[in-house]
Amino acid sequence: MSENGQKNKMIEIPPIITVRELSQIIKASPIEIIKILMANGVMANINQQIDFDTAAVVAAELGFEVCIETQAPEKEEDLGEIPLWRRMIANENPADLVNRPPVVTILGHVDHGKTTLLDAIRHTNVAAGEVGGITQHIGAYQVEHNNRIITFLDTPGHAAFTAMRARGAQGADIVILVVAADDGVMPQTKEAAAHAKAAHVPIIVAMNKIDKPNANQDRVRQQLAEIGLVPDDWDGDTIVVPISAKLNKGMEDLLEAINLVADNLDIRANPKGKVIGTVIEAEIDRAKGVLATLLVQNGSLEVGDVVVAGNTCGKIKAMFDYTGKRVRKAGPSFPVSVMGLNGIPQAGDLFQVVESEKDARIMIDEQNQAKAQIEASQKSVMSLEQLFDRFQAGDVRELRLVVKADVQGSLEPVVSSLQDLGKGDIAINILHAETGAVSESDVMLAAASKAIVIGFNVQADSTARRLADSEGVSIRLYDIIYRLIEDIEKALKGMLEPEEKEVILGHAEVRAVFRISKIGNIAGCYVTDGEIHRNAKMRVIRNGEVIHEGWIHSLKHLQEDVREIRHGFECGIAIKGFDGFEVGDKLECFSIEKVAVL
Ligand code: GDP
Repeated sequence: MSENGQKNKMIEIPPIITVRELSQIIKASPIEIIKILMANGVMANINQQIDFDTAAVVAAELGFEVCIETQAPEKEEDLGEIPLWRRMIANENPADLVNRPPVVTILGHVDHGKTTLLDAIRHTNVAAGEVGGITQHIGAYQVEHNNRIITFLDTPGHAAFTAMRARGAQGADIVILVVAADDGVMPQTKEAAAHAKAAHVPIIVAMNKIDKPNANQDRVRQQLAEIGLVPDDWDGDTIVVPISAKLNKGMEDLLEAINLVADNLDIRANPKGKVIGTVIEAEIDRAKGVLATLLVQNGSLEVGDVVVAGNTCGKIKAMFDYTGKRVRKAGPSFPVSVMGLNGIPQAGDLFQVVESEKDARIMIDEQNQAKAQIEASQKSVMSLEQLFDRFQAGDVRELRLVVKADVQGSLEPVVSSLQDLGKGDIAINILHAETGAVSESDVMLAAASKAIVIGFNVQADSTARRLADSEGVSIRLYDIIYRLIEDIEKALKGMLEPEEKEVILGHAEVRAVFRISKIGNIAGCYVTDGEIHRNAKMRVIRNGEVIHEGWIHSLKHLQEDVREIRHGFECGIAIKGFDGFEVGDKLECFSIEKVAVL
């Protein structure tokens, strides 16, 4: 009961809460909360975390009674990590969705037995009807276990997986992490685990080489637990299957484990829906021309379909499955090698079916334009200075880091100080921390995970630097720990408090409206002041009222595409998602600039 005898309102709060979050829950100003805290001897700022008891005192003063939150709210999904095909499936009518085979990829340290395992699975369990059939290497194959099909991506090593993630494709539903029982968890095991975790893909551990006399399963279980993969027989939730790929032992158990994990995932697609998927690999064949392996992820791909795959396109002339057999149709989770593309797409590129070859060319043009725009506007997308931009765009909700240091003795303090920094509103997620120079694989991990590489008392080797340049990954090297911490702190503040400033670039008046079939209405305009920029946003104003706001789709001057057009000139303007122009409408062109409050 509060002092005035009224019953206090009950609220639920988590065990630890920031001042800002508490102010939002009890709808009080953060300043008010800070004042109460100060009166109680606690000096706090808005991002300060306070414990439950302290929060209870503050809440009581404001007339609330608190209880501990029964369940922590689920972290919002990071949209940047959800590939387009998954988002598309989410938009399908649930009634049309049917189960599809899980897609599995095998990762692990070199020589731990990935290739041997892929061969063992392939030879013991080729899908029904294909036993003894000649299998072709197309980068993926399928096996059957208990009447259920499983699709394996058979390019071992995480280069392919990383390439896919870097392009936002994320082909696999499940990762098999191979760990040799005689060698244990090694650097690439850790990296692979970091990749899978960052992509939210469940991991099954295949503990291989158990036939070896020096195999030590308990030691490996201990090491797995140390990297956060607590084995199920230790009450954790990572399934560990002991196997010998060489002696073909444990294969059935492994396939069973895959089906078990798949049962707990939502692995569905609409075979009649829009066709979309991922390029697994592609090459030029002397006889057949470009051969590309496509993994269908939604819809059904058919011979005769026109496909856009990355930067390439074409009408599918023929399709083959992994046994080399001609097929006419491939549904979700089915890999097929296709003939007919006009170029070699890259592994990890997205493919889609479009209406006609003309549509395909338009789509590729648009993709190229969009890419050029992005490249022009943010050359180094991973730079610390620009991270808050992407945070603001909802792209990242945590600062992801790959940390390298010279010795264990300096790695530990760096990691723990960084973790302390991440206790505010934006989490710090250390994907990988290891001693040694910054290497190519660190940069790959960072590129795929939209992370920054931090080096303490180490250098980056030349291949790492080159890759960082081409992928736009930021490598920050430090030799003084407080500078490192200061920089990251600044970045976090920037991410937390960017201010948006609108800059009006110019105005135009609609003087005519042209109807262009397929594209819709184009506004024939006269620029009345300032400039109109192709990469900017536009407001459509009618009778003093804003009736639409959106990105400019195209800007033309005398049929030519132009980047900008100045006061006194005429132009044709199309706006994304709007074509209801009327003569007399005013168009206001503006851009949004973000200013960090550091
Ligand atoms: P990858 O680099 O991970 O693809 O490893 P490989 O599949 O090439 O295997 C590396 C070596 O380990 C080869 O000599 C394999 O014959 C051997 N190997 C793989 N699996 C087993 C196993 O279960 N038992 C034993 N004793 N050797 C294995």
